[in-house]
Amino acid sequence: MPDDCIFCAIVAGDIPATKIDEDDRVVAFMDINPATRGHTLVIPRQHADNVLEIDEEDLAAAVKMGQRIAKRAVRGLGADGVNLLNSCGEHAWQTVFHFHLHVIPRYQGDPLQLPWIPHPGDQEDIAAAAAVLRSTS
Ligand code: 5GP
Ligand code: ZN
Repeated sequence: MPDDCIFCAIVAGDIPATKIDEDDRVVAFMDINPATRGHTLVIPRQHADNVLEIDEEDLAAAVKMGQRIAKRAVRGLGADGVNLLNSCGEHAWQTVFHFHLHVIPRYQGDPLQLPWIPHPGDQEDIAAAAAVLRSTS
């Protein structure tokens, strides 16, 4: 565990966080800069930098916890939808390098926008990328 990891410090109880749930593998707490009301982060207790590094069982536990919180956001907060989001690497917008799953409740008319404008892709390049992904172990 890196000495300077803020989320490890939250797991250890060394810095405060508004926790909402936890189990033996993961902890869920409120994001300090919520994108919408109820924005929650789910993290493994055991440090892993990102989705490429996290233990598979911890990842499964994080996704299950994310689903539970998503259901609570719909039932309890009246969310109209939910985004589950993970960023891996600085070029993918990751800013805290301890794996975390964002659970972002969505509300009709909320101000969040898709971060990209969808355009039809190049069919040949889609096929070429698919071939690489199929054949890479
Ligand atoms: P990322 O940009 O890595 O996907 O997300 C990092 C998230 O962690 C951000 O949404 C940010 O608001 C949140 N965050 C950063 N520092 C803290 C903190 O000290 N406490 C809490 N609760 N959230 C934090
Ligand atoms: Zn950490």
